[in-house]
Amino acid sequence: MLASNIKEIRAHLPKHIQLVCVSKFHPAEMIAEAYALGERDFGESRAQELTTKVDVLPKDIRWHFIGPLQSNKVKYVVPHAYMIQSVESEKLLVEIEKQASKHQKIQKVLLEIHIAQETTKHGFSEEEVTQFFKEKQWEHYPHVEICGLMGIATLTDDSENTKKEFAKIHNIFDNIKKSTPLDSFTELSIGMSNDYSLAIDEGATIVRIGSAIFGQRDYSK
Ligand SMILES: *Cc1c(COP(=O)(O)O)cnc(C)c1O
Repeated sequence: MLASNIKEIRAHLPKHIQLVCVSKFHPAEMIAEAYALGERDFGESRAQELTTKVDVLPKDIRWHFIGPLQSNKVKYVVPHAYMIQSVESEKLLVEIEKQASKHQKIQKVLLEIHIAQETTKHGFSEEEVTQFFKEKQWEHYPHVEICGLMGIATLTDDSENTKKEFAKIHNIFDNIKKSTPLDSFTELSIGMSNDYSLAIDEGATIVRIGSAIFGQRDYSK
């Protein structure tokens, strides 16, 4: 199952696009299985679950943190995260800077942009993120490397709507990339199990795929 799922996704994915296997709510054994098939990038959404898995899995895994992150949990995530993709506010950047400095690391992050209609979704607005780069706010965070943007589309079967939302973040991404002197700003993380082919068409450099690889998640655990 897992092997054929990954093979199928890899077959559809252009080589330059990075696949993050979203392993949240799935056991470490399944991650080990994907690792044995050559996968190295995994996505987790909860600090506690991340640290538990880090302890029992190979050290060369690149962990991507993709879930809502509270400031008081940042200290558990920074020591292990290759990249924090779900940075939804400057308040969080302040805390990441503090923890990264303490651990003497440069923490790669993506800024999450609010592109969905759902008001429950998090992230910077277009105005906020544009302002952030215009004012070179990133200069305040020397231990944070801002690598690009992340977005989650509205959960819907309406592919026209999804396309529109991806096009919106792609446009924001291009505008920043054109005007910022920040060399690290290269990544656009859009696309999940149900919409990753649309994301590929809309300029994704990273896709985050969970259920299409690992199957349905059991939230009762
Ligand atoms: C859970 C999650 C994913 C993976 O979702 P699937 O639909 O299972 O592929 C991707 N991105 C984020 C931010 C998530 O929380």
